[in-house]
Amino acid sequence: MTEDAPSRPPAVSRRSRVRVVGSGPVSMAFACFACRQGIAPDRILLDRAPGPPPPALAGRALALSLGTWQLLARIGRLPRAAPIGTVEVTVSGLPGRVRLTASELGVPALGYVVRYATLVEALERGVAAAGLMYTVPGGDGANLGSPSTPSAPASGSSTEGAMLVVHAEGDTGSDVSELAFAQSALLAEVEVEVEADHATGPLLPAHERFTVAGPLALLPLPEPRRYSLVWCASPEESQRRASLAPEALAAELQSAFGWSLGRLSFWNTPIVAPMVRKARRRIAGDREVWIGNAAQALHPVAGQGLNLGVRDAFLLARCLGQADADHADETVALASYARTRRLDRSGTIALTDTLARIFSIRPLRPLQSLTLTALDLMPAARATLARQFMFGFR
Ligand SMILES: Cc1cc2nc3c(=O)[nH]c(=O)nc-3n(C[C@H](O)[C@H](O)[C@H](O)COP(=O)(O)OP(=O)(O)OC[C@H]3O[C@@H](n4cnc5c(N)ncnc54)[C@H](O)[C@@H]3O)c2cc1C
Repeated sequence: MTEDAPSRPPAVSRRSRVRVVGSGPVSMAFACFACRQGIAPDRILLDRAPGPPPPALAGRALALSLGTWQLLARIGRLPRAAPIGTVEVTVSGLPGRVRLTASELGVPALGYVVRYATLVEALERGVAAAGLMYTVPGGDGANLGSPSTPSAPASGSSTEGAMLVVHAEGDTGSDVSELAFAQSALLAEVEVEVEADHATGPLLPAHERFTVAGPLALLPLPEPRRYSLVWCASPEESQRRASLAPEALAAELQSAFGWSLGRLSFWNTPIVAPMVRKARRRIAGDREVWIGNAAQALHPVAGQGLNLGVRDAFLLARCLGQADADHADETVALASYARTRRLDRSGTIALTDTLARIFSIRPLRPLQSLTLTALDLMPAARATLARQFMFGFR
């Protein structure tokens, strides 16, 4: 650049508006966190798809880690949830097991299980309480609607040039590194026979069992004796299971999981979801940034996807709030955000990928069982692992 050349204006002015694209928990959590960081609600536009979440998302149960629960509690009242007191990890047919317990770690619960739809409703209340506005996808931000009635897109002048766009639409797009696990998950709610032991309070057990075909998780739900099932296997095997009559499917589940919760029966019709890990290569540009599942979609083996996404949302809001406070340009905030997220993001992706892959290798099953036994004998290592699941890598 020559000396007298006009300096390039910053790509985004310090006071640019923030358009948040997405209708899921991460978009709403980010908008609320941003308000709490001092960004005025009228600078934030929430682009949301009209109507309730798609059924594949709405019926999903989510295990929120303690760290996520504490972050979201800052936004408003959270929905009824099942508090997790223990997580027991086993290898089917072999003796090894590891048990994480809230009491041993000195925390009120390891996490809380909620249904996706009820979490979204709670966050919608947070959005309304913060005075945030919705627009609809493709709108230019001029026409704002109330949270319950998104407005129609307007034609005419666009404010896009002054916008900072936060992608939280749950889709990573194509600039990704991808890992196919050759697995699908059968998702359903099941009823168990054995009432939880309430001798130690309301805390409930969660189970992760590594079977020959893939991981099987049973997460407690807020209703008594109800669990959410995530049962992974090859896509063909998952489809075969989904086509079975409920009693036949329950018998197969019983033989894969065992009898520790008594007789298992299906509460609803299972659905099958493909399992692929996708991670964007770049999560921030000059005027765009990607958070939640728009940045990375993980295998559900350790229930970490939304937990990572909520940390994305919280730290992005903090970087933008800090830039405002420092009178710094937002491009600096986005670069700082991308740097800040490197360790947690890469660590959580690597941990999840490893669990999904290593525990699917059949010849390693005796070693998997031994590893769990060894971990169970090492309280310090167990506590480190549990803290990473609860609060992420930092
Ligand atoms: C089987 C399974 C079990 C899981 N269990 C857990 C768990 O126990 N714990 C955990 O932490 N994570 C879990 N996850 C991951 C978790 O579901 C996701 O990480 C989380 O839903 C991501 O939230 P999000 O808001 O980023 O995206 P999404 O939940 O995908 O929401 C994005 C929303 O934006 C909408 N949208 C798309 N395009 C637009 C647009 N242009 N404008 C407006 N809106 C748009 C979409 O329709 C969607 O409703 C699980 C995932 C699976 C598959």
